[in-house]
Amino acid sequence: MRNEILKLEETSRLLEPSPTLRADWTQKVTEYSDDFIDNIEKLKAYVVSEENGRDLLNTHFRESGRNMEEVLKILKENVDSVGLNPASGGHLGYIPGGGIYTTALGDFLAAVTNRYAGIFYGGPGAVRVENQLIRWMNELIGYPEGSLGNLTSGGSIANLIAIVTARDKKQIRSRDVENAVIYLTEQVHHCVQKAIRIAGLNESVIRYIPMDENYRMSAEGLKKQVALDRSSGLRPFLVVGSAGTTDAGAVDPLDAIADISEANDMWFHIDAAYGGFFILVESLKEKFKGVERSDSLAIDPHKGLFLSYGLGAILIKDVKAQFESHYYKASYMQDTLGVNEELSPADLSPELTKHFRGLRLWLGLHLFGLDPFKACLEEKYLLCQYFYEKIQELGFEVGPQPELSVCMYRYIPKNGEANEFNAKLVDYVKEDGRVFISSTNLNGVNWLRLAVLSFRTRLTTIEILIEVLEKGVKKFNV
Ligand SMILES: *Cc1c(COP(=O)(O)O)cnc(C)c1O
Repeated sequence: MRNEILKLEETSRLLEPSPTLRADWTQKVTEYSDDFIDNIEKLKAYVVSEENGRDLLNTHFRESGRNMEEVLKILKENVDSVGLNPASGGHLGYIPGGGIYTTALGDFLAAVTNRYAGIFYGGPGAVRVENQLIRWMNELIGYPEGSLGNLTSGGSIANLIAIVTARDKKQIRSRDVENAVIYLTEQVHHCVQKAIRIAGLNESVIRYIPMDENYRMSAEGLKKQVALDRSSGLRPFLVVGSAGTTDAGAVDPLDAIADISEANDMWFHIDAAYGGFFILVESLKEKFKGVERSDSLAIDPHKGLFLSYGLGAILIKDVKAQFESHYYKASYMQDTLGVNEELSPADLSPELTKHFRGLRLWLGLHLFGLDPFKACLEEKYLLCQYFYEKIQELGFEVGPQPELSVCMYRYIPKNGEANEFNAKLVDYVKEDGRVFISSTNLNGVNWLRLAVLSFRTRLTTIEILIEVLEKGVKKFNV
């Protein structure tokens, strides 16, 4: 048996590359990423392609390895050159992506050392890093000491954790679901409806509260509906507001919603996945008035702090409730009990073995400091305001004055159908490829959207969009 083991060891040791091979691979990957970043302004924001990376399917996993050049070539041709380029400053659709370099370095270190950030007993330092980041966000929002939450893969899971916690805290058991009431608006992000379904609340009563002309929840409408529901014996237990909706960037009247939640003993959750970090900008703080009165809040560093995809956060005031919804005691975890100087992320989320995702943010905040993040957010806000003015000068109709960095606009053509005309503009921008925009449909009306949140979007980027739109209008408006 010894010989057999030693023979296997020879091959299994290939998983630990020699220092020379490691240096070679690291150098080639670094060259690849340098080439990507150094040329980012020349790379298109969207590449229309027939193949869409289909060649990947012909590249099978073999018994023996390939060399790095070959693998990087496959990656470049089939993954990094087709479709949307979320790292591009020209990404002005949906909610744009980020990709600040420190995310990559943090992930690199987290992957090499593979520290475990799930349980304090195993990775006390790693857990402290994650909890410190969560507490920093709690402080930004104005949550009291003792609040916590969890670092998640993104806003969707963050919203899910909050909704499950709210359900349990308000004691909505399966037999109560049909009488339980949740309040939203039609502008809530669809991951909230998804989370409601996953949380087993699909059969509860979902009330879509009317909105004002700026797509914000009507507090008056909410108040009336809650009173009506209570008088008919239902159990209002959860209201979900948004601080920055995806379509229009609208911020619901948080303070007024908090009044109503408090008066009716409801859980007030805020989805601030897109908009939350704008609270870092002094001049925009006022828009978030009342945010600190909520019970939980979802916020995405992979949006508002420009990190690469893979980092969201849920902040929760009642950490005991969060713990009770997510903690599970298993016999093979018995050694970890009693070591609880810090609460463990694994007890506050559905995950056990998890990515040490905090390191990517921790590194960036320490290396850059807060100033560049704040300036970048304010710059994005102003770029959106600038565009909103310029586009009206070109004869476009616009939606509400942008509260954060998203706005809606559309062109009414001389002849023909406006929705079709605006869809043609989206395609025209996509074919040019330097910038990318997306559209939405509100009550049957197609609106083009501008969403500025890539850290690489500059004044010149916005000017390119304006130029392309102007050309598109000239071409089609006949
Ligand atoms: C992006 C977004 C989400 C979903 O978050 P993910 O990180 O994509 O899972 C939820 N709500 C809002 C307002 C968003 O912009």
